[in-house]
Amino acid sequence: MNTACPHCAADLRLRKPVRRSDPGGTRRILACPACGGALALHPHPAEKFFFPGVLLALLGLNIYSGFSGIKISPTGAVLMLALIFAAAFAVRRLLVPKDWRRYVADRSSKD
Ligand SMILES: [Zn+2]
Repeated sequence: MNTACPHCAADLRLRKPVRRSDPGGTRRILACPACGGALALHPHPAEKFFFPGVLLALLGLNIYSGFSGIKISPTGAVLMLALIFAAAFAVRRLLVPKDWRRYVADRSSKD
């Protein structure tokens, strides 16, 4: 994944973007720690689809186990969480292209 700043090309993998108020002070935006340029997160469609999907699946599973009377053991729950983390890792590693930009310039701000 390409974590370079769209303004100054500083690598933001280690130097995380900072949060600051926008000039109007109405909302919090991400800013590059090197040049101060406004940034927006740029999630890949696979990520956008995956994470709400996982939440829905967990919710569905909870409702299902509530209705069916099937008890999920603590071990089973931990295993399930481990699977979800592994899947999230795999989605990022396999589906998101290496040159996918993690951050783009925030177009809603004036600079
Ligand atoms: Zn920058």
